[in-house]
Amino acid sequence: MSRSAHPAGPRHADVLTEGHYTAPPADLNVLDEKVWARTVSRNDDGAVTVGGIEVTRLAEEFGTPAYFLDESDFRARCRAWADAFGPGADVFYAGKAFLSRAVVRWLKEEGLNLDVCSGGELTTALDAGMPAERIAFHGNNKTVAEIERAIHVGVGRIVLDSFQEIVRVSHIAQRLGKRQRVQIRVTVGVEAHTHEFIATAHEDQKFGIALAGGQAAEAVRRALTLDGIELIGIHSHIGSQIFDMAGFEVSARRVVQLLAEVRDEHGVELPEIDLGGGLGIAYTSDDDPREPHEIAKALGDIVTRECESAGLATPRISVEPGRAIVGPTAFTLYEVGTIKHLEGLRTYVSVDGGMSDNIRTALYDAEYSVALVSRRSDAEPMLVRVVGKHCESGDIVVKDAFLPSDLAPGDLIAVPATGAYCRSMASNYNHALRPPVVAVRDGEARVIVRRETEEDLLRLDVG
Ligand SMILES: *Cc1c(COP(=O)(O)O)cnc(C)c1O
Repeated sequence: MSRSAHPAGPRHADVLTEGHYTAPPADLNVLDEKVWARTVSRNDDGAVTVGGIEVTRLAEEFGTPAYFLDESDFRARCRAWADAFGPGADVFYAGKAFLSRAVVRWLKEEGLNLDVCSGGELTTALDAGMPAERIAFHGNNKTVAEIERAIHVGVGRIVLDSFQEIVRVSHIAQRLGKRQRVQIRVTVGVEAHTHEFIATAHEDQKFGIALAGGQAAEAVRRALTLDGIELIGIHSHIGSQIFDMAGFEVSARRVVQLLAEVRDEHGVELPEIDLGGGLGIAYTSDDDPREPHEIAKALGDIVTRECESAGLATPRISVEPGRAIVGPTAFTLYEVGTIKHLEGLRTYVSVDGGMSDNIRTALYDAEYSVALVSRRSDAEPMLVRVVGKHCESGDIVVKDAFLPSDLAPGDLIAVPATGAYCRSMASNYNHALRPPVVAVRDGEARVIVRRETEEDLLRLDVG
């Protein structure tokens, strides 16, 4: 990512030490379509609209802060992934990115499968009518109760993550008189993050069973001999916000190598491989994500080639995009409360939300963009830091971004690409009320997750 100190223009830029900003765009009123949901645009009056509705109207009706999700964009992205991979592969939406009953129904209608990793996510999926066989159950420490329930309802697969779990799932399935389809999650020694990947990463992480040292081969050996489980394949997930397909290439090669070893040792060709998720999206104009069809072609080619050279039939591939489906479809709408110009230092713009609705900046040093959306402005760009209202100085929403210098309290600003890992990681810090998620489509807006109320807080606090 190219980050350069801004040459001239906004005051204070020269004293910023971190350099997490680029030059201001030529026109702050222009919305980069890469980072905004598809139906977002600015109308002739200068207000931004989504699904044909002005954000000013949305703020009046639903309040701020709030997440607005472009339903037609979400559905289009589901279809793009499903079409790109075709009937010979499976796309599992990673529910942890953002899950609600409406989302489950959209996924079901658009032909996607669903990854869950907790009893709560499983309940949401089943309640909204996702057929159990289209659900995969993940996690490095599923409880006995979760495993029992998953097997009882008949989930399509459980992804086994440890030696103990292989035995545990086998025992529970036998007790329930079932044979559960499972995959084994392996760590391939590849670590991918954004623009870099490391092919020789340490397996020092809590997920999966290492290929290194024959651990994964041993896991396969055990899984093949135990009753109650049917080993259908190998699973690998190498990171998040990945743009470089080279990480998947190394990972696929190593997984296929394991399939070849399994065939040589056991005479069994495992029919499936899952290459995980982690495909990157554009949070800022600097990010250039690939289209699903390019990703599908690249992954398909890699797996086909590796299998050919190992003399294996090509297994059925699955992928698990979370962020790449829901991330770009939503933005968070905030109202500006205060603006502080710290002479010679920085300008802080405080909004009515913060780390309770978007923890990613504080947690991962994530980059976001921001725009004034309630009106047009032709004022000079001003370099700002957008912060929340929480009692924590690390409560940053957007580290460095340009907003017009006539920004004033009461203006609405929006942070795009907050569909993934924002509402799902939201907290009640400072007893904040978690914002609603409002789905917008064809001129209609409806709440799919309502705003939390003070009553909700008190209901949990039983005195
Ligand atoms: C988190 C996760 C995903 C989804 O990751 P994204 O970055 O949202 O695409 C997919 N598979 C597994 C196993 C995961 O843990």
